[in-house]
Amino acid sequence: MSRFLSPSLSGISPYIPGEQTEDSTLIKLNTNENPYPPSPMAIELAQAELSRMQLYPDPSCTALVAEAARYFNVAKSQMLFANGSDEILAFIFEALCPKGVAFPDVTYGFYSIYAEHYGIKATKVPLHEDFSVNIDDYSDFDGTIVIANPNAPTGLLLPRTEIEKLLIAKPDRLIVIDEAYVDFGGESCVSLTDRYDNLIVCGTFSKSRSMAGARLGYAIACEALIADLKLVKFCFNPYNVNRVAAALGLGSLLDKDYFVSCRDAVISTRERTSVALSDLGFTLMPTKTNFLYCAAPRMSGKDFANALREQGVIVRYFDIARCKDYVRVSIGTDEQMARFIDVCREISKK
Ligand SMILES: *Cc1c(COP(=O)(O)O)cnc(C)c1O
Repeated sequence: MSRFLSPSLSGISPYIPGEQTEDSTLIKLNTNENPYPPSPMAIELAQAELSRMQLYPDPSCTALVAEAARYFNVAKSQMLFANGSDEILAFIFEALCPKGVAFPDVTYGFYSIYAEHYGIKATKVPLHEDFSVNIDDYSDFDGTIVIANPNAPTGLLLPRTEIEKLLIAKPDRLIVIDEAYVDFGGESCVSLTDRYDNLIVCGTFSKSRSMAGARLGYAIACEALIADLKLVKFCFNPYNVNRVAAALGLGSLLDKDYFVSCRDAVISTRERTSVALSDLGFTLMPTKTNFLYCAAPRMSGKDFANALREQGVIVRYFDIARCKDYVRVSIGTDEQMARFIDVCREISKK
């Protein structure tokens, strides 16, 4: 680090992304990417943008917002797109957590990093023994609450009725629901955004829409909250969504059949993989996402991840004390998961 670095950044622990590799002999199940490419219609729209790249993109993402508002059944003034939902979350932490933030102790790693980065007091609320979130644990907290639903890396879903209780309990407390995985079987809270002005739902096109490489995420909330987030965006980077990402996103929304068929394929592969793994004696969380949170018999999560890696299967292990037996395995194609199960079968015999 140079002698010019601001002291506020010198002690921070940044996010460590999962290993990225282009080596096609490896089976990459470590970053919850979709195994299928973006929709052909989306690719066609994106290609048409390449010859216009000399021009800045539309800072308001007008066409994308119009189509997304139709898809989500909200007003256009209730939507904002950004450079991945990570950027949406950064805007929220920066602008909308003046009384601190609370989130589960086991959840998406960026929440605690953003809290530290923006100097916000973070309260980590322990999950219960079974990894579930109990909203009663948040009843005394007055700051902003951030909950990934379904949660990551556990995969567990909180019913919408529970979130509605949180919204009603304290109308002056902001609730942020991160729906990165909602398309794989979750219950979205988007329909609550016109009834509750203390709710922000954020989501991403990275997972269910096969666009991790494009960086496209969104926020849906009441108009006033979206105006706050736009304020941050226009103080930071008005052109945060590039032309290719916006065109891919629009194409993805228009090509509903393709979206549904890829999502359904991931869900059925997930269900088949879950059955095969539990038949082999592995422990699994009941997931509503595109990943499994699972433990091998008689083996630590770290050893399980290493044993898979030796056989060319990359998964994610998080070094969290209470989750030391578990690894997170993204759902790939049927073929990739068949190979994963074969390796697990060998591992379970050891
Ligand atoms: C993947 C993920 C994100 C980030 O998504 P991007 O749009 O790719 O930035 C946010 N929250 C959770 C819980 C995620 O798993």
